[in-house]
Amino acid sequence: MARRKKIYEGKAKTLYEGPEPGTIVQYFKDDATAFNAEKKDVIEGKGVLNNLLSEYFMVGLGQIGVPTHFLKRLNMREQLVRSCEIIPLEVIVRNYAAGSMSKRLGIDEGTQLPRPIVEYCYKDDSLGDPLVSEEHIAAFGWASQQDMDDILSLALRVNDFMSGVMFGVGIRLVDFKIEIGRVYDGDFQRLVVADEISPDSCRLWDIESGQKLDKDVFRRDLGSLTDAYSEVARRLGVMPNNPPAPSKPTLVN
Ligand code: C5P
Repeated sequence: MARRKKIYEGKAKTLYEGPEPGTIVQYFKDDATAFNAEKKDVIEGKGVLNNLLSEYFMVGLGQIGVPTHFLKRLNMREQLVRSCEIIPLEVIVRNYAAGSMSKRLGIDEGTQLPRPIVEYCYKDDSLGDPLVSEEHIAAFGWASQQDMDDILSLALRVNDFMSGVMFGVGIRLVDFKIEIGRVYDGDFQRLVVADEISPDSCRLWDIESGQKLDKDVFRRDLGSLTDAYSEVARRLGVMPNNPPAPSKPTLVN
């Protein structure tokens, strides 16, 4: 069997050269990391759930005309995507205050924001992905003004889509992060939603109970991450046939 070429290994995914030029196989690992990899664990089944959930969101975005890198799912852990040049920004959209915004601005978690707020962080693990302004982005040439207009429009369309889909299954989309890639078609370049969209990169709260169904469960030691992600997958109807085993019940006393 021919060995395939590994292009990049990240914290939650490994990328391999795809079967056709311009394609990449994206493999979803079970590794969970938080706080810039200071906290680490292996969560059985997480990769499968994120592969299926990211497929679900990317396909849905494609159906409403939002371009993404997604081509097709290959198996339970892998999907084929278009190779693209990742813009070195994490694009965060927030509907409710939480996480680093609550800390930075002293706003209670869960406070509804007057409108969706888009933030940009410079993608550099060694610096802890610092928040940057559009001035930095323009001055350092990370993206052009045209790119920034397109990125803002993509981010808000993803927010509207994701908020609606999640609302339909009783979940509040508090915030999320996306990454944007450039793909070249002959003389033209266009921007697409890349990387993944999953509970690793979103904050998802049950509307009724406020229960967290995202990576904060791992970051803050709130219980089983597999159970939380399985709940999201179950509500969206994308639960695999052989779901990851539920966590063992915790014995109290
Ligand atoms: O930590 P913070 O509050 O800035 O995160 C905002 C949103 O972006 C959260 O949904 C979080 O999961 C996501 N995020 C991410 N990857 C990062 C930083 C944040 O997916 N490196």
